[in-house]
Order: sequence, then structure tokens, then C-alpha cells
Amino acid sequence: MAKKEFKAESKRLLDIMINSIYSQKEVFLRELISNASDAIDKIYYKALTDDSLTFNKDDYYIKVSADKENRTLTISDTGIGMTKEELEEHLGTIAKSGSLAFKNENELKDGHDIIGQFGVGFYAAFMVADVVTVMTKALGRDEAYKWESAGADGYTMEPCAKESVGTDVILKLKENTDDENYDEYLEVDRLKNIIKTYSDFIRYPIKMDVTVNKPKEDAENEFEEVQEEQTVNSMVPIWRKNKNELTDEDYEAFYAEKHYGFDKPLAHIHTSVDGAVRYHAILFIPENIPFNYYSKEFEKGLELYSNGVLIMNKCPDLLPDHFSFVKGMVDSEDLSLNISREMLQHDRQLKLIAKNIGKKIKNELQSLLKNNRDKYESFYQSFGRQLKFGVYNDFGANKDLLKDLLLFYSSKEKKLVTLDEYVSRMPEDQKYIYYASGESYDRIEKLPQTELVSEKGYEILYFTEDIDEFAIKMLANYQDKEFKSVSSGDLGIESEEDQNKSDADENQYKELFEEMNSILSGKVKSVRPSKRLKTHSVCLAADGEVTIEMEKILNAMPDNQHVKADKVLEINTNHDVFGTLQAAFEKDKEKFSLYTNLLYNQALLIEGLPIDDPVEFTNDICKVMA
Ligand code: ADP
Repeated sequence: MAKKEFKAESKRLLDIMINSIYSQKEVFLRELISNASDAIDKIYYKALTDDSLTFNKDDYYIKVSADKENRTLTISDTGIGMTKEELEEHLGTIAKSGSLAFKNENELKDGHDIIGQFGVGFYAAFMVADVVTVMTKALGRDEAYKWESAGADGYTMEPCAKESVGTDVILKLKENTDDENYDEYLEVDRLKNIIKTYSDFIRYPIKMDVTVNKPKEDAENEFEEVQEEQTVNSMVPIWRKNKNELTDEDYEAFYAEKHYGFDKPLAHIHTSVDGAVRYHAILFIPENIPFNYYSKEFEKGLELYSNGVLIMNKCPDLLPDHFSFVKGMVDSEDLSLNISREMLQHDRQLKLIAKNIGKKIKNELQSLLKNNRDKYESFYQSFGRQLKFGVYNDFGANKDLLKDLLLFYSSKEKKLVTLDEYVSRMPEDQKYIYYASGESYDRIEKLPQTELVSEKGYEILYFTEDIDEFAIKMLANYQDKEFKSVSSGDLGIESEEDQNKSDADENQYKELFEEMNSILSGKVKSVRPSKRLKTHSVCLAADGEVTIEMEKILNAMPDNQHVKADKVLEINTNHDVFGTLQAAFEKDKEKFSLYTNLLYNQALLIEGLPIDDPVEFTNDICKVMA
């Protein structure tokens, strides 16, 4: 019998196929099982319109059998089978259209473009098999055919004997190598495992012969090993079940079974959409943060199924970065099984699904915030930072979507509050949303800069994470209220009286402040009487956009840009220390310079900034004490 050659392009394609398209060899089984399932589907759909055909559910199944002695693995189905012509057409040429329009050699090598364009799943068999034999009998035909190939050099075809309609795909497994153990595909447990992982939800039973220990019928307390046919897959996926029939426990069990996390999910979303694009999705909001969440190693994404068959473990395009913590899966009948990653990125259907999912997650978080504050706060502890990054990233493109999900610690409520809660409590005369940045709530509470705002009775939001202020700068305002740092030059609440006093002070002590300014030249932009200090003697404020807290963060970054805040040293002219300062200014210029440096260094310490020369600072204190 003459061996037929694969078409030239097919040869190269087969090579690529075997060597580069699939990262894991075990997926060959998924591919063959889904072909089998498709073949049964074809009878099923035919029966819908063909009265001479009846589809009796029990007659349709897939069987996986391993023969250790002969090192073969057989995948049989009772599907529609293939005629001689179909065999030749489908398995003889990989590119069914016959027009392989590769643009260049590189594209070919990469292999990715091909997988989406042509059906190549069957050839995955060559990843684990030296020889693949297909015996098939088409529906309504008397003769059966055997197709056989040992890979790229071609295939043979001849009539064969086969009783029932359907297809057997027989794989003669490769010999083990140092790196690869092919024997594992003969182990029932391993096979069951692969089927559970990739094909659990195939609509037809996948059967295997399994050895089980059973009590002997004639003797008590004795067992014997018997062969039993088992259905390995569960067939009905939880996401296709009716929500009303499922309990929280069902979803939790699914979460655990899927290894989405070791925690219990805080909430789940189960959605089935039957519109422009059809899909089912189950999404989880986890409680605990994965240990590598805020690192480069973390990969976001949802499991992606095409009609019950897993095609990607982590499809990143389904989840926006700001919701990267979400776990779960999407199953769509509108996606092709063999679609490549690159093609998925441009898939219109997928984009639509991603958009819907983004909205769903936002709504779920919002309802959690509204109806179950404890749970939401526990979520926020883990992932709030990600939401704030979301506000900041992409030049604020998602800020409106996310702003209502933010929480900050409130000076008044002593707990986390939303921006909406803050604004709705604002007294009528309050113009701004005030915030203060620092290392911890305790440290912020003690900041001199908060004095005036607190005295006014206004609420202050405490920012302790480095992203906070950047996110807020991106928001700029909330419900038309601008954000304002308590350290900013102009707080917008100074009374006319304070303003007049400070103007008067500035005039009266003009020379003193000028002198201080020149002593601290290069360190601060200016020195001036404070309008915000009540009991404290000194503090640092910032003019302009960059606050002191931002300067700290930017300078701690790897690509240190040496961004500087315009620092202003503010002196409380009502404080006793100011009297001492004045006296020194008039009588002892050396002392005046000493005091100026001391006050400046104190302000740095309060702000949590490093002082330039700690030794000099302690020497200065000693001088004062001596
Ligand atoms: P795809 O399934 O993506 O079309 P494959 O290379 O896996 O690509 O299969 C090529 C074709 O061969 C299928 O479209 C189908 O027509 C046929 N085929 C493969 N396996 C079977 C099977 N078990 N029963 C019937 N036809 C099959």
C-alpha cells in the first residue's frame, strides 16, 4: 500500500505543532476528547432535524482505555464517524482550506497564528505518540476505514473491520526519555486526573475501566478486585446549573476544588448571559491576599472554557488590572477551541465579555460595601491598594469607576470611611476634603499641621499608603470638592483675623524671617509665620503640587528623579519659643543661627524626614543645654 504524503505545508506545520504550540503534553487528551464530543454533537444535531434518527442518550459516550502491555491508549467515541473522503480531507491535510497564507517564515515558526486558523487539535496526539491509528465508521455507511501515521512523513489508509458507528483513535505511546515519562498516560489515576482537569464538563460520559475493591459476595469481610466501568467526568458544570439550586457551600466547594485559593471566598458572582455574546461565568472575590499578589510573579486571569472545554488556565484579557484579584472562570460557546492567545487579545467577543465582567465585579463590590461593611473592609485590607493603583494608573482612565470603592481612615470616625460619607458630613462652610499623610494613624494624629483643620472641627482623612496621595491627585476632586493636604501652603480656612495677624507679623518681623531664610538657604523655599499652628512651635509645609510625603515616596523609588517639594518652614509667632528667637535676633546672631537650625531640624523630624547632619544636630542641642 502506497504511503501518501502530507501536503508540504502540513509537514512543516506538524513539526511546529508537535514542538511548540502546546506547553503541556497532557492536553493531547483534551483535544482528542473534545473531537469525540464534537462528533457526538453532530449526531445529536442531526437527530434534531432527521426523523429517521433518534438520539438515545445512553448510546452516546466516550471511552478511554489504556493497554499497558502494548503501550497503547485508545480514545473511542460513538460519534458520527468519518467517511473515506472525510478522513482524507480532515486528517490528511492540516490546513483544510488548502491555502496556507503565511506571511513569512517567522510567523510559521512561532506557530501561534496557525492554531487559530486551522483545526490542528488532532495532531496534538503526536506529542505523546509515535504512531496514531484512527479506525472510523461513518453514520449511514457500511464500510469502515483505518488511517495510520507515524508523524511527518505521511499516512496510510485502508478499509478495515469495525462493527459500530464512531471512531477509535489509538495512540502508540512514545518510549520514555530522560525528560519525559510517557508511561504516565497508561495509568488510570493519572488519566482520570487529566480528564477531571480539562474535560470534566464535557456533556457526554467519559468512561474508563477502573479496578475497584469490592466486598466478596459469598464471604463476609473479604474483598476482591473487580473491573468496573466508571464515568469519570461530572458532565454538568456548576456554571450551567440554576443559581437558585446552588448554595454558598456549592460555590465554596468549587472554589476549593479549582484551587483558586485556600481561603473562603468573600463573595461570588454567577452570571449567564444570552445576548450578543453568550457565556456563563462564576467569579469569586477572595478574602486573603495571595502571598505574591503585589509582586511581578503574580499572574492575573480567569479560566477560559470554550463550550465546556478548558482552553486557557489564566486568560489575562478577561480581567482589568484593578480587579486582578478576582478568581473564576468563563465558559463561552462563541469562542473557538483552538483560538490562540494572540488572537484572543483581538477577539471582539472576548472584549465584550471582559467589559461585562468588569461591570459585574464593580457592582458586586459596591453591594458588598453597602450591605456587608465588615466583609468589604476585610476585602479592602487585602486589595484596597490595588483599587487605588487602579485610580492612578492609565492616567486616571478608570478613576470614575473606582472612586466610590475607596476607603480612608477618618480622624473623626476613627474608622474607614468612603469619600461619599465624608462629603455628606461636611459642614456647609467647608470647602475642601482634607487629608494628612504619614507613616501611621498615630503619627499623623500628632502632626502639628493638623491643628487648625481639627480645631475647625473638620474631618481629616489619614493617608498611610504610598499610593494614597498619588491616587487622590489623580482624582483631583470628589463630588466637586477638591482635595487638600493639611500641609499645603494655603488651607482655605484661615480666618480674616488670622490672615491679618499673619500679614502684620510678616511685616513686623520681616528682617527676622529674611535672616532665617538666608541661614536655611537651599534647604527651604521660605520661612514664614504660621496660620495653622496653635500649640506647636514649628512645622514644614509645601507650596505647589508636590507635597513632602510625595517627595519622600518619589525619592524612595528605584528611578529616583530627585523631585523636591517646595518646603516652607512655618513658625508659630504665638509660641514662647518665638520670643526667645526674637531676643536672640536682636542680641546674639550666633544663637539666632543655632536656634534657626534647631527649629528646622525639629520640623524635619516631625515630618519623618532625615536630618542632614544628626551629629551637628545633637551638638547643637548640647550647646543650648550647656
Ligand atoms: P478541529 O477539531 O479544530 O476541526 P482537528 O484537527 O482536531 O481540528 O480535527 C479535524 C477534523 O477531523 C474535525 O473537524 C473533524 O471533522 C474530524 N475529526 C477529528 N476527530 C474526529 C472524531 N473523533 N470523530 C469524527 N470526526 C473527527
